[in-house]
Amino acid sequence: MSQKISGVKGMNDLLPGEIEIWQSVEGRARDVFGRFGYGEIRTPMVEDTALFVRSVGEETDIVGKEMYTFEDKGGRSLSLRPEGTAPAARAYIEHSVNNQEPVTRWFYMGPMFRYERMKTGRYRQFYQIGAEAYGAKEAAQDVEMMDMVVQFLESLDLKDISLNLNSLGDEACRPAYHAKLVEYLKAHREELCGDCQRRMETNPLRVLDCKNEKCQAVAAAGPNVLEFLCEPCRAHFNDLQRKLTGLGIKYVVNPRMVRGLDYYTRTVFEFIAAHPALGTASTVGGGGRYDTMMKGLGGPDVPAVGFAMGLDRLVLLLKESGKKFTQAPDLFVVAVDEGSQDLALTLTSRLRREGLRVDFDTRGGSLKSQMKRADKSGAHFTLVLGEAERTSGQAKLKRMAGGEPIPVTLDDVAKALRAHRDAAPA
Ligand code: AMP
Repeated sequence: MSQKISGVKGMNDLLPGEIEIWQSVEGRARDVFGRFGYGEIRTPMVEDTALFVRSVGEETDIVGKEMYTFEDKGGRSLSLRPEGTAPAARAYIEHSVNNQEPVTRWFYMGPMFRYERMKTGRYRQFYQIGAEAYGAKEAAQDVEMMDMVVQFLESLDLKDISLNLNSLGDEACRPAYHAKLVEYLKAHREELCGDCQRRMETNPLRVLDCKNEKCQAVAAAGPNVLEFLCEPCRAHFNDLQRKLTGLGIKYVVNPRMVRGLDYYTRTVFEFIAAHPALGTASTVGGGGRYDTMMKGLGGPDVPAVGFAMGLDRLVLLLKESGKKFTQAPDLFVVAVDEGSQDLALTLTSRLRREGLRVDFDTRGGSLKSQMKRADKSGAHFTLVLGEAERTSGQAKLKRMAGGEPIPVTLDDVAKALRAHRDAAPA
């Protein structure tokens, strides 16, 4: 017997029954983001490794430990994208989009890849929905984006998700904070994990998002980034909060939040769900401002702000909500004898062309087995075809929920079905 081949660890199959939830979330995102003027982009799943090294940062977990990097046949180092902001920035620069319009709003959705330790809500291929706004440095742009996320979550009826905010300052004020942080971390060197003892020298901010409990305890008692903000950064952060309040958006300021990527300046934010279904993977999305990344990638001096949400985690929350996402067929056609099979095929073909969701059992079989199948399909109506129906061109629509059968001519099934479906009790 040949050996069974399994899917790759941490990479999931999405099948009918569940995929409808994904499609619903994607549909809501397209709808809400469209209302905010965001256009969809699709970039390749593979990029030059240097793109992520230079933007996300070499010292981050994502680039340092989690990327799927390989050499192609031409000897280039390529990586499966671990996130969407850097590829979008690369595309923005490559197509000189800044020369075409002063402000650009893009969104994307698709799979991302990180070689992470797996658990509930954490996978090696996972899906993100994200957005980027280029060209506006004002806090209003950050707020517009957070408002979009809030409206997106509302459209999914997801509650109990809190918005956490912080500011990481900019190149004017961050060095002083860095210096203070390094001084503090050096004094606590022995309490830090091996990785953080190294990070402390190369990229001290990364110590703040180390998952090790001891490191977290050290970080929690360390210097507060907000106390180091320069005047323009402070003004930006105050403006941001005032505008959020103006829109009625609730938030919590969390000065320890730095997020796991290097490119952020000023605003960073996270949306955190309080639902046990996510276990410790409670962050459903996050983002921030990255005003210097474009230039760092050799592009124009264009400010930007973006976010990404984990689709897998949103789906976990929606599964818990008990809401139904699958759509049952309008009609199940049952063909009781061989002669009716061809008629069933032409009738279902026509009804589908007319826009109805129709099912039938292509294997034929006994009336009883087909009725069982009709029942299982959850179809709202059934229609049985036999010799009598074939010769008379008349049949009966039977509502599965019960009630008197409805006589129809075979030419008018779609019309009758629509009329009775729309009049059906909820
Ligand atoms: P990040 O790019 O790390 O800021 O992640 C943004 C969002 O993507 C997170 O809040 C999660 O919802 C989701 N996410 C990140 N990594 C994973 C993963 N390995 N598995 C599932 N979702 C993830």
